[in-house]
Amino acid sequence: MRASRISGLVFLLAAAGLLAFFAALRLELIASRYNPLLPLDLTDPPGLMSEVKLWLIEGNRPACIAAFARANVVVTAMPHRTAKPGCGREGTVLVRTLSEADIGGEEMRCDVAMRLYLLERHIIQPLARRHLGAGVDRITHFGSYSCRTMRGSSWRMSEHSTANAFDISGFRTANGRMISLKKDWPTGGAPARFLRDVRRGACSLFNMVLSPDYNADHADHFHVDQGLFRGCH
Ligand SMILES: [Zn+2]
Repeated sequence: MRASRISGLVFLLAAAGLLAFFAALRLELIASRYNPLLPLDLTDPPGLMSEVKLWLIEGNRPACIAAFARANVVVTAMPHRTAKPGCGREGTVLVRTLSEADIGGEEMRCDVAMRLYLLERHIIQPLARRHLGAGVDRITHFGSYSCRTMRGSSWRMSEHSTANAFDISGFRTANGRMISLKKDWPTGGAPARFLRDVRRGACSLFNMVLSPDYNADHADHFHVDQGLFRGCH
């Protein structure tokens, strides 16, 4: 009897809490980025709620393209193509410009493109302004799709085989300064600090991040991917 009264009270409190939460959402007392009822907004700083929303639309290219459209970013859906076993492009988009930085037109899985956009807009740009005194207008890279095994493995296919990865080799600031992983990672100056902070930010968005610290194969780029394995190296 006593136990059922307690569970009744818990139920009532939970119901009242939920009601208060949704009333607060309706009255817009809670910022849109914490509102689970609103679709993903790529212009909001990434956090726990955006991670849930990214997860909910993972593999859903129309929802991904719609999220880009809400952020006024044009991405183009690409046709589905398969290559030899283990390789192919499905659910990819062509991306030219992120919030400010140009990437020169690269095709990748839309889920990877959204995380790259969040990385560039909310992490790379503020870090570049802080460490380098100017935003980034170009991200140089080694691309996304490549039908091959992982570096150092003769059999395990790379996430690049399905355009589920992206390799960043450097940055150009709005005032024309070139920052490269190969040249600037080993130095101790502001560019090196910028690059290490970018790695930390990338690790909060991508399942796997490999930097020059990982091995010699990555001495000249950041590898980021959305495969099954997690790591920040
Ligand atoms: Zn890579």
